[in-house]
Amino acid sequence: MAYKTDIEIAREAKKRPIMEIGAKLGIPSEHLLPYGHDKAKVSQPFIASLADRKNGKLVLVTAINPTPAGEGKTTTTVGLGDGLNRIGKNAVICIREASLGPNFGMKGGAAGGGYAQVVPMEEMNLHFTGDFHAITSAHNLLSAMIDNHIYWGNELDIDARRVVWRRVMDMNDRALRDVVVNLGGVANGFPRQTGFDITVASEVMAILCLSNDLEDLQKRLGDIVVAYRRDKSPIYCRDIKADGAMTVLLKDAMQPNLVQTLENNPAFVHGGPFANIAHGCNSVIATKTALKLADYVVTEAGFGADLGAEKFMNIKCRKAGLAPDAVVLVATVRAMKMNGGVAKADLGAENVEAVQKGCPNLGRHIGNVKSFGVPVVVAINHFVTDTDAEVQAVKDYVASQGSEAILCKHWAHGSAGVEELSHKVVELAESGAANFTPSYPDDMPLMKKIETIAAKIYHADGVIADNAVHAQLQAWEEAGYGHLPVCMAKTQYSFSTDPNLRGAPTGFSVPVREVRLSAGAGFIVAICGEIMTMPGLPRMPSAEVIRLNADGDVEGLF
Ligand code: ADP
Ligand code: MG
Repeated sequence: MAYKTDIEIAREAKKRPIMEIGAKLGIPSEHLLPYGHDKAKVSQPFIASLADRKNGKLVLVTAINPTPAGEGKTTTTVGLGDGLNRIGKNAVICIREASLGPNFGMKGGAAGGGYAQVVPMEEMNLHFTGDFHAITSAHNLLSAMIDNHIYWGNELDIDARRVVWRRVMDMNDRALRDVVVNLGGVANGFPRQTGFDITVASEVMAILCLSNDLEDLQKRLGDIVVAYRRDKSPIYCRDIKADGAMTVLLKDAMQPNLVQTLENNPAFVHGGPFANIAHGCNSVIATKTALKLADYVVTEAGFGADLGAEKFMNIKCRKAGLAPDAVVLVATVRAMKMNGGVAKADLGAENVEAVQKGCPNLGRHIGNVKSFGVPVVVAINHFVTDTDAEVQAVKDYVASQGSEAILCKHWAHGSAGVEELSHKVVELAESGAANFTPSYPDDMPLMKKIETIAAKIYHADGVIADNAVHAQLQAWEEAGYGHLPVCMAKTQYSFSTDPNLRGAPTGFSVPVREVRLSAGAGFIVAICGEIMTMPGLPRMPSAEVIRLNADGDVEGLF
């Protein structure tokens, strides 16, 4: 049987006008700022007017360590949102916007899949409402103003060798990772080495996603450390006087985008920070707005639960004052098999033993999620190749861990395939069992925070770091940054820093190669292993097959 592609299904969607979707949430049409007929931003005054309302329940969708077999977190987030609406609940989903770079490379879309998708998927995967362009512009305005400041006499005494603010572009372009700027003589300034990151890696992206409102946004932009003097004292974005103009460029991007699912349920799609050097979840403003408007908010965190859920809890929830009521941990039979040592090419054949062998990866994530004091249910995202015996093996394993695994068929059947999970999520969220506790207190020393995550979440033996790393962390503590949470940047494929170490490895330590300060976003990044902030395109980028057909429709976008 041939299955329709995501884009074919999305194109058949019976979309409702966006004003109607907003009305479902009680948003008056004058407070919806339409971008065409199927997308709208929610006005700032309306968001401000919600402050005194009570919050709905917050449900996080996370997953086991990703494998090339695919897990389907977004697909499950969308499916569960539709499922909750199907069983009569007022639910909305909150997910991230897509980055252009990966879409033209190899990643696949960010709108879910099968019959659990957000539409308009083409636009969501392309320019959408222009938020990423605004972020790119705001970031690069600051870059330009720094070089301009040096050019006109450098009153702030910036050490041109210590400018840490790079440039960004929303494209996978490895040619720009390291560049020399200001070449060409006296009229162009002082040559110096710098580089480009992808827009989703910009601190401006992280700031936009963690800010509560425009005032908070401007303050955080001002707090960005852009460079150092010869004496190593920091120079802030505020010193360059860029924070006001950057806020102007970002004022519309700060407003959450409302779209709909294939089943015409509301979806906020807003912000999209990298899940390695940033925290990997949609904006705080979208999540908070959604909580005021719906009884259930289903949201997603990037990568596996060791990175995504950990940062959702320790960075986003802690800083925004949010507390999740339930967690859905997505697992697939295929990914269990891969964790059990089966190669991608052999995933088609039934192999219960390999499923069982891979399950400890799931088990460790279950335990980790429970360590945050939040109840968890496992969603088995069903693939048509899964056999009953394999599914049963996952269910039995999860039961042995004191939790429940529920088979979900939202990819194939939309909300009808996810009713059981929806009821279970309601039960967990309403049980009052959640007692959210982050992994460490604010006042713990920075290195101790890194060690705590390595021990509690990764189950590592310890952390290895040079004296330079220790000294840097200490210097930041002395400069008043000791209360910040840490943002771990490591491979998403393993609990360890070795992407090939699947399952639930033990007996490893976590090397911290470098630490970076994101003073505006409000976290310290600990880089463990090689982390790419400007991806490259693969040998055969999907851009080669993306085109418009005779009807003017986009082809090749998955
Ligand atoms: P994640 O959010 O975990 O990165 P997505 O939900 O975006 O994953 O799904 C990745 C890809 O896998 C999508 O193209 C989607 O269509 C596909 N996919 C997800 N679930 C299923 C499933 N049950 N069967 C087949 N394909 C699926
Ligand atoms: Mg996703």
